[in-house]
Amino acid sequence: MKPTHIEHIGIAVEDLQQAIRYYEDVLGLECYAIEEVVDQKVKTAFFMVGQTKIELLESTDPEGPIGKFITNRGPGIHHIAFAMPDVGQALAAAREKGVRLIDEKPRKGAEGLHIGFLHPKSTFGVLTEFCGE
Ligand code: ZN
Repeated sequence: MKPTHIEHIGIAVEDLQQAIRYYEDVLGLECYAIEEVVDQKVKTAFFMVGQTKIELLESTDPEGPIGKFITNRGPGIHHIAFAMPDVGQALAAAREKGVRLIDEKPRKGAEGLHIGFLHPKSTFGVLTEFCGE
């Protein structure tokens, strides 16, 4: 199974409102959704660029994954999400090939999509997400 496209790029930001202003005023994109994902301790904002989204991530808790990421590495690109026809199958196939998984099974992400993460130690330093219906 291979990805159909890059579903989104996740970007960790310190201040969601400031970052939204940049994407709207400088890049001319339109924020079409803001959503809190309680589970992940983040507030997200979405922009569409062709078929691909930009997902801004602001931490709601310094101990959450984005809070820790910003503490350790500063704001910036956090992950890349590939659109997969079947996230569960794609995760299983990656595991079979020896890739370390963060999520053994798909879980619910923003926008009601199924998501699953591969460990960056297995993906050349890029936190990789599979994302699908
Ligand atoms: Zn994502």
